Amino acid sequence: MPEKIDCAVIGAGVVGLAVARELALAGREVVILEAEGAIGTHTSSRNSEVIHSGIYYVPGSLKARLCVEGKQLMYRYCAERGIAHQRITKIVVATGEAQVPELDKYKQQAEANGVNDLRMLTRGELRRIEPEVAAVAGFLSPSTGIVDSHALMLACLGDAENRGASLALNSRVESGRVTADGILLNVGGTEPMTVVCNTVINAAGLYAQDASRRIEGIPAATIPPTFYAIGHYYTLTGKSPFSRHVYPVARRDWHGVHVTVDLGGRCKFGPDFEWIDRVDYRFDESREARFYAAIRDYYPGLKDGALQPGYTGIRPKLGGPSQLVADFMIQGPRDHGIAGMVSLYGIESPGLTSSLAIGAYVRSLLAGE
Ligand SMILES: Cc1cc2nc3c(=O)[nH]c(=O)nc-3n(C[C@H](O)[C@H](O)[C@H](O)COP(=O)(O)OP(=O)(O)OC[C@H]3O[C@@H](n4cnc5c(N)ncnc54)[C@H](O)[C@@H]3O)c2cc1C
Repeated sequence: MPEKIDCAVIGAGVVGLAVARELALAGREVVILEAEGAIGTHTSSRNSEVIHSGIYYVPGSLKARLCVEGKQLMYRYCAERGIAHQRITKIVVATGEAQVPELDKYKQQAEANGVNDLRMLTRGELRRIEPEVAAVAGFLSPSTGIVDSHALMLACLGDAENRGASLALNSRVESGRVTADGILLNVGGTEPMTVVCNTVINAAGLYAQDASRRIEGIPAATIPPTFYAIGHYYTLTGKSPFSRHVYPVARRDWHGVHVTVDLGGRCKFGPDFEWIDRVDYRFDESREARFYAAIRDYYPGLKDGALQPGYTGIRPKLGGPSQLVADFMIQGPRDHGIAGMVSLYGIESPGLTSSLAIGAYVRSLLAGE
């Protein structure tokens, strides 16, 4: 007989862990099933760790709503739990006059999303606060920050475990079936098992569509196609010449080669953007010249040889090259007709910022709200 469990969360990235925490705090018995031998080894440890303010997302979208809610929850949670973070702030800059109208568009969009603290900066103010940045205009986003994402994941896991949740590592969900008694999952790995669950949350990140396709009974028409886009980061040797994140005006759905200042006062540049057809984190060093050129557009002082290859991350995209901007897709029972099932697709940026708000949102979907 398969073991009966109340609630299984597939995936121990930041989103799965935040959802597990939320459900455990609500009194649910939670088991987190993670394919790898540790938590957060995929997108949750291959990102910029920025607490986004909510500027870039289409007003009314889930991304806009969950980012702004998530940011507030994140600052509060980090303070309560002693998770390393900093409201380091960010400037968005135009390097030529033609880009200046874009700054106004961002400001209006941010205000529509409830981000009302952006402050326009003159060239002189920019030079004073970030002397290394060459730009004609910009704005300051005071609520943008940086967080230790691993500490955040450990805190979420700790909260969930304190409420009785358990984490099963090396436990890949191989297949499953929707039955009259609940959702049956066949779990492989070192200790294979079959479980029947009242509730299943699919938070498998880059593999969420794959996991859904393996569960018989999830209507195929509800599973979106999978697209991947890789981003590379280069690090700068030595101390950061900037005191805050610096973003050039964005190019379509990504933020250009921007600067992120980390909690140790160092900085990295990236991510860039390229479509790929499978998950492969290898670093392509042939991009170096492109990075130097893009960075020197706003940081002319960048010295030859200063950049070092860093790491890559892969965005789980819902739209391909023809539809660059897509919203998070979070399907509850009303969307696919399966009681107790929630599937999360396309949780790219700002998924880290939104993670605690996504947890609350998933709980509300399960409650039929
Ligand atoms: C380059 C890049 C930069 C980013 N920068 C930021 C940023 O600065 N700020 C921000 O807010 N967001 C950012 N994001 C987005 C953020 O990192 C993600 O939204 C977030 O980490 C997604 O977390 P997740 O838990 O959904 O996925 P993941 O972290 O990928 O976790 C999914 C987990 O599911 C497991 N899994 C997969 N299949 C199975 C299975 N069948 N059975 C069991 N387990 C399985 C995987 O092993 C993995 O551990 C960035 C993303 C990228 C790619």
